[in-house]
Amino acid sequence: MKFSGKNVLITGASKGIGADIARVLAEFGLKVWINYRSNADLALKLKAELDSKGLQSAVVPFDATNEAEFIEAIKLIVESDGELSYLVNNAGITNDKLALRMKLEDFDSVIKGNLNSCFIGCREALKVMSKQKSGSVVNISSIVGERGNPGQVNYSASKGGMIAMTKSFAYEGAMRGVRFNTITPGFIRTDMTEELSEETKQSYVNAIPLKRLGEGSDIANGVAFLLSDHSSYITGEVLKINGGMYM
Ligand code: NAP
Repeated sequence: MKFSGKNVLITGASKGIGADIARVLAEFGLKVWINYRSNADLALKLKAELDSKGLQSAVVPFDATNEAEFIEAIKLIVESDGELSYLVNNAGITNDKLALRMKLEDFDSVIKGNLNSCFIGCREALKVMSKQKSGSVVNISSIVGERGNPGQVNYSASKGGMIAMTKSFAYEGAMRGVRFNTITPGFIRTDMTEELSEETKQSYVNAIPLKRLGEGSDIANGVAFLLSDHSSYITGEVLKINGGMYM
């Protein structure tokens, strides 16, 4: 994979899909900025793993829903490396309940957790990348943002919103040399999905034509493509990585 930039910020990268994105992008030669919110130990462990392979990384703690903290983190990265080449808005939360039992606070917190963080990241990246006249942003949405899911009206609304927002950013970024794309993962093996019962997981596998759960690396390889120069004519696109679960 060929990259014309040199660094990438990945939100929520201390574990799960974000950590695998960090591993894959570091292997492709980028310096990865590992963002975490609450688990410093995991983030430092990931950095040590990358260090041991001679790969470049740094750790940057902040809450991605906090505008001031996000802005400060990007400022720090630009001061350190001279630019922000790429951004992956990966941080995300769930708070599942059937709609009839969902309080407005349950709805609001997931919208804020997933949409606000993505908005702040895209806007701030656009500011910095416009000056550079180059850059690429990938937002991690979800299959449920495309097709809905019972128990997830809040999460699906936030993830569907990310898809539309990314397209709007893509229009505004195109004239400034900055691309914005979305990935919609299907059912990926992480802590977020470990919470589900074996029975539920098996029912998902049954519904997946490729007959397996996805791995973080499946998503990471898609991210690498969309950030890289191999996708230089692709913007505003939605890349489904779901084993054929939703085509
Ligand atoms: P995960 O294992 O729960 O990890 C989520 C990460 O995001 C955690 O490190 C978490 O940090 C971080 N995070 C959440 N809110 C944050 C914030 N405000 N600021 C900074 N970091 C924050 O989840 P995952 O399964 O890897 O999911 C990663 C992304 O893929 C999410 O956007 C998710 O919606 C999406 N996705 C996942 C699946 C799946 O099957 N796993 C499917 C479709 C889409 P803390 O631990 O500190 O809170």
